[in-house]
Amino acid sequence: MKKVKPSLVLSDEDLKKITTYPPELQTELFHTSLAVQSPYLLAKINGEQYIVASWIAEYKKAGKAMEDIEWNEVITRHINPFKEENLLDDVAKLNVREIESLLEFCNKYGLMGEKINNISIEKSGVDTLGRRILANAKESLSYFVKETLIIQGLITTYHDIIQPLNDYYKDTNDTSIEKTIDEMELKLKQGINSKLGLVRPAINLEAKGKYLPGYTTSTLLGAIYYQFYEVVTSGKQFKECVNCGSLFIPRKSNAKFCPPFTSGEHSSCQNSYNQMKSRAKKSVRTGKKTIEEVANSLGRPLAEVRGWFD
Ligand SMILES: [Zn+2]
Repeated sequence: MKKVKPSLVLSDEDLKKITTYPPELQTELFHTSLAVQSPYLLAKINGEQYIVASWIAEYKKAGKAMEDIEWNEVITRHINPFKEENLLDDVAKLNVREIESLLEFCNKYGLMGEKINNISIEKSGVDTLGRRILANAKESLSYFVKETLIIQGLITTYHDIIQPLNDYYKDTNDTSIEKTIDEMELKLKQGINSKLGLVRPAINLEAKGKYLPGYTTSTLLGAIYYQFYEVVTSGKQFKECVNCGSLFIPRKSNAKFCPPFTSGEHSSCQNSYNQMKSRAKKSVRTGKKTIEEVANSLGRPLAEVRGWFD
């Protein structure tokens, strides 16, 4: 994420502006702290499925009222979602039908922010740093799934439709597809813009008397859309992971696999692909299978499997 160095603009004798960047004022441009109330679990409340912080379930089981919450008993982790480099990749990859991976995502990043995006916080327990404890403690599963699917739909529109159409248009100048491209790009633009209001300028008080410019968001959803906005406006493209097929933003031009879920670890997709490759090579080398049979049984294109033996 970008850092800001607020510039110092002075005028010289000829009233020409001179801009300098005092390094001591360097700070984070995006300063946000969101609660992650992990571990989360799925619970049915009044007939509807919710993703809830497990401490809520424990409080309910113990018959305690929400009013009785001892705020300092509730363990809460905080993240700056703007600094989570794989956030957009993880959203793109998330399979909302797999509850386990959905909860794993929530345990890492928290919830999308239904309560915050839709209504003001009704009961705002505040910790010593003034952070709202109830934030991200509970969210309807349907909201989380709906918002995830909307983002994934926009990513797919960008990667699977707009990009190939624009490539084709560049090659052929085929005017018959102009209207379709315009419509799709408008849909993408409106889809992203509609959520960018969740990110807003905010003063970053770095030290006494030092009011620095900055941006913040109250919800994970805001940060996700901001990352998407950065991808699109910087002309970056998503790529398909060779192993699992999900879309990710390549950090290097030759990147083939989605980034690891936990930073610093190896990409699990890269690991499983390499394992599959070495098993395949072994079965061909030992004469158990032909290259064609391997390709067939793995369901991978023959050209790709042939490439393993080059
Ligand atoms: Zn992958």
